[in-house]
Amino acid sequence: MPFDPAEYRDALDHAHRHALDWLDSVPERPVRPASTVDELDFAGPLPEGPTDAAEVVDELARKAEMGLMAIPSGKFFGWVMGGTLPAALAADWLVGAWDQNAGLRYATPAAAAIEEAAGSWLLEALHLPTRAAVGFTTGGTTANMVGLAAGRGDALHRVGWDLNAHGLQGAPKVTVLAGAEVHASVELALRYLGLGMPQLVESDAQGRLRPDSLALALAETDGPVIVALQAGNLHSGAFDPMRDCIEIAHENSAWVHVDGAFGLWAAASPRWAAELDGLDGADSWATDAHKTLNVPYDCGVAIVADPTAARIAFGTHTSYLIQAADAPADPFELVPEMSRRARGIPVWAALRSLGRSGVIELVEGLAGHARGLADALAELDGVEILNDVVFTQVCLSFGSDERTRAVTQALIADGEVWMSGSRWAGRDVLRISVSNWSTDATDVASSVNAVQRAMRNAAKTEPGRSR
Ligand SMILES: *Cc1c(COP(=O)(O)O)cnc(C)c1O
Repeated sequence: MPFDPAEYRDALDHAHRHALDWLDSVPERPVRPASTVDELDFAGPLPEGPTDAAEVVDELARKAEMGLMAIPSGKFFGWVMGGTLPAALAADWLVGAWDQNAGLRYATPAAAAIEEAAGSWLLEALHLPTRAAVGFTTGGTTANMVGLAAGRGDALHRVGWDLNAHGLQGAPKVTVLAGAEVHASVELALRYLGLGMPQLVESDAQGRLRPDSLALALAETDGPVIVALQAGNLHSGAFDPMRDCIEIAHENSAWVHVDGAFGLWAAASPRWAAELDGLDGADSWATDAHKTLNVPYDCGVAIVADPTAARIAFGTHTSYLIQAADAPADPFELVPEMSRRARGIPVWAALRSLGRSGVIELVEGLAGHARGLADALAELDGVEILNDVVFTQVCLSFGSDERTRAVTQALIADGEVWMSGSRWAGRDVLRISVSNWSTDATDVASSVNAVQRAMRNAAKTEPGRSR
């Protein structure tokens, strides 16, 4: 078939219209999806023959509609998921249209230049070392894997073991220390890397790793060590004490990786300067752009202070004898993929549209609305706020675990908002994450009303209450 721009025009015009219809519906529609996977009409055999592109797009939009979660809504507070800034979404469309394989600087110079600029802006916005390598990954989990992989290679190299030549078989044991409330994503990344489960170090009531416990654990450890810290606890939003932990770890020759999937963004604002003091002294950091920065799925960011350590883990020149510093790294040398979409481009667009002040306002706005939600919910009879609200996360209980589960269910069924049921510190909780750039005071007010309504509805159906 010949290359026919008209066919693209038709399909893209239809996609454009459907995208706008969807975005127009977001503020009013229930946040939860209307259908389950099994109720949607996509199953069935592979079609026998071709279908016109625009028709395919129409069918896709029509059939998907009932199964879409309104994640772009300002009243979506589930897990930790951002929405989409307009500039980032539009840039993402161009990424698809341009279809650049962003692995090589000389082959796709525009993609490389844009991603390199996005990387420098990120380091500047987050006050991280300007020499650090920045790789764009699928998400926080892969970004954690990149930092931990660089740490694994470096820690083994320091004891004279060439990981790329010999692998982990027969290698000295690498100990990984992490706080008791380490995110499952770090454990998953360690599994990819063949390092097994981390050794857990005591955390305080907000889930912050205790430096004195870290010092004790390190004193009892021999050989290569990685310390995995956390900036932004999933339930409390709290930050591990960076300066103390990093100093203790470095005194013990450990590599320090920071999982800051959403919390690293606090570094953009002077408001959290005390909590994050010393953050820039770590060896690697992982964050997400698809959470706090509000670019469309998917985009994580892997940052490694010593670019050579990242290149040795993922480049094709794998030896420590090759000093990689003489030429700039090709993008594929910093992430697991050889071929990949230029997912750093929406990051560039987001940062270009926000500017420094916009990033600070975005982060402070999210935290401000989390504070607003916590304050208003605390006023309701029967609500207990369980965490110190220091960032974008709020955890609450409605009394017993049973009642908290019932209110959570009633809230999801109501559809006005979406918040996550979870467990924290041995209790069932309702967890709120304010991660959407568009959340405003009206969303906060209607969300508080929705929780109040769910409390009434749960009381009606709760078996214990009718007696
Ligand atoms: C979301 C999250 C991750 C994982 O990020 P993905 O983008 O989902 O892979 C890791 N750590 C923390 C603290 C998170 O909140």
